[in-house]
Amino acid sequence: MIPLTYSRPSDIRAAVAAGGDENTYFIGGGTNLIDLMKAGVEKPTRLVDVNHLGLDKIEAAKDGGLRIGAGVRNTDAANHPAVRKDYPLLSQAFLAGASAQLRNMATVGGNLLQRTRCDYFVDTGFDHCNKRKPGSGCAALKGWNRTHAILGASEHCVAVNPSDMNVALVALDAVINVQGPNGDRQIHASDFHRLPGDHPEIDTTLKHGELITSVDLPKTSATQNACYLKLRERNSYAFALVSVAVALNLSGRTVQSGRIVIGGVAHKPWFAEDASNALNGKSLENVDFADV
Ligand code: SF4
Repeated sequence: MIPLTYSRPSDIRAAVAAGGDENTYFIGGGTNLIDLMKAGVEKPTRLVDVNHLGLDKIEAAKDGGLRIGAGVRNTDAANHPAVRKDYPLLSQAFLAGASAQLRNMATVGGNLLQRTRCDYFVDTGFDHCNKRKPGSGCAALKGWNRTHAILGASEHCVAVNPSDMNVALVALDAVINVQGPNGDRQIHASDFHRLPGDHPEIDTTLKHGELITSVDLPKTSATQNACYLKLRERNSYAFALVSVAVALNLSGRTVQSGRIVIGGVAHKPWFAEDASNALNGKSLENVDFADV
């Protein structure tokens, strides 16, 4: 048994101050972290509860967009009137993920940080997993890898990011606000997750000790002309075999610019840049999507 301490700070500064060392983890809804702790994959010695920091609000941003607090539950974000009206793509992505019970607990910040569901990662009975035990190999390369990466993988890891929300955030060009020991910074959603390369144990560009405080959604016409589609092995409660988030800036029926982002196929949401650019200037009446 690993000794564990728990603290519940009431403001962001105290939470960041408590989050210093590598064995200290922030905990929100705990829907992924607790599972991984029970499985012996994650072994924190200190948990800092970030549920009481006032990060559970959704509010209008100064630029006309929307700011979603990192502590907002996935269910609340999906059903918020402003999200449903102005960012239906994001609402669709939230509702495509997990079960209602999990969505009721899971937070936006936790969703950004959820870890791969690769069987060899979540089951410590398997010795070879570079993500869980750097340098140990990758059992999935020659094992069960039907749902693993087809884009951006490395010889060290072929895992995929399991989130639906993350795919939508990249399509919406969202910005993630974080606060850490060295101050505040912003990370574009497309730069938040990383490819595995030589270090598959590192999922994101977040530094240890940095706390996600909110996600900013810009307001453009693309947020309305958008859709999230997800294919999976059963109709609910399953991770994506592949998903697609599309957001289009339109002038009349002509595409000014578009973002196509694919989920379930890489270690990060995959921005299909060439396909997105191919839509520019096309009329929706004439575009041959087979060419895109
Ligand atoms: Fe581990 Fe990545 Fe290989 Fe899965 S794909 S076994 S997570 S190294």
